[in-house]
Amino acid sequence: MEKEVLIFGHKSPDTDSICSSIVMEYFEKKQGNTNCKAVRLGNVNKETQYVLDYLGIEAPELIEKVEEGQQVILVDHNDFEQSADGIENAKILSVTDHHSIGNFRTAEPLYYTAKPYGCTSTILFEEFKSFGHKIEKKEAVLMASAIISDTLLLKSPTTTEHDKKALEELAKIAEIDINTYGLEMLKAGTDLGDFTAEELVNLDAKKQDKDGTKFVIAQVNTVDIQDVLKRQEELENAMKAEIQKNGLKLIVLAITDILNSNSEIIALGENADEVIQKAFDKKLENNRAFLEGVVSRKKQLLPNIDKSI
Ligand code: MG
Ligand code: MG
Ligand code: MG
Repeated sequence: MEKEVLIFGHKSPDTDSICSSIVMEYFEKKQGNTNCKAVRLGNVNKETQYVLDYLGIEAPELIEKVEEGQQVILVDHNDFEQSADGIENAKILSVTDHHSIGNFRTAEPLYYTAKPYGCTSTILFEEFKSFGHKIEKKEAVLMASAIISDTLLLKSPTTTEHDKKALEELAKIAEIDINTYGLEMLKAGTDLGDFTAEELVNLDAKKQDKDGTKFVIAQVNTVDIQDVLKRQEELENAMKAEIQKNGLKLIVLAITDILNSNSEIIALGENADEVIQKAFDKKLENNRAFLEGVVSRKKQLLPNIDKSI
């Protein structure tokens, strides 16, 4: 038998990366591509674990790298920095993603579905529709969870009408109340107590490379910013270690209050003061700044910091 096609989302996988990988496996099988399986590139976070437990299913198998010529399907990312080690020499069959495209190149033609929606699962939802595939309850729970996660219950500025419509319809099939289920799921992800500072800084970290200037924007969700800030010193030490290890110009940790839709950031690096001042018109005090109404890395943190750098 030919080697299985591997389906995966980005490193430090979030709920969209895990759920969309699993849903993509179902979708591919409905399309007749039976020899494929979802895998993951990192630990499952607590929010995603809540979803898997709700459904009583196992997390996809963990892989670290892909062999040369391995056939792969990417979801929820396209940037090679955020993909499996060895991705440069893999054969990418398709990409389904909702991120900007900057660092992506293939030797061969491929399917590429990019839509500027709030979540990869919203794109998948529309793919099920357009190919006339029935959405099963389990698939609906997975896609609804991914949308709730990426859009923070439709409150993030990344949310589109497509996400709202998809979530509404998926919630019916999933037989969930969006707010009740959604808050439980998001809250499960904010239980940060037993993570080390190093783990927190890497939980949901995206490496960026702007013309050779490397920086990282990490994010943790919480229902109590002050509670996380109790560990500021410890977090800063872990952030400094990341700067050393990866030659970073800047590292920003966004502590995002998912109930009130605000973020407090901790920023460290060579010109952190200047970069944050230019990006958000805010002065860092004690390496921190409060950013009202900021919840989205993709739409708010990243573009402003990128421009400022
Ligand atoms: Mg993601
Ligand atoms: Mg996503
Ligand atoms: Mg995310």
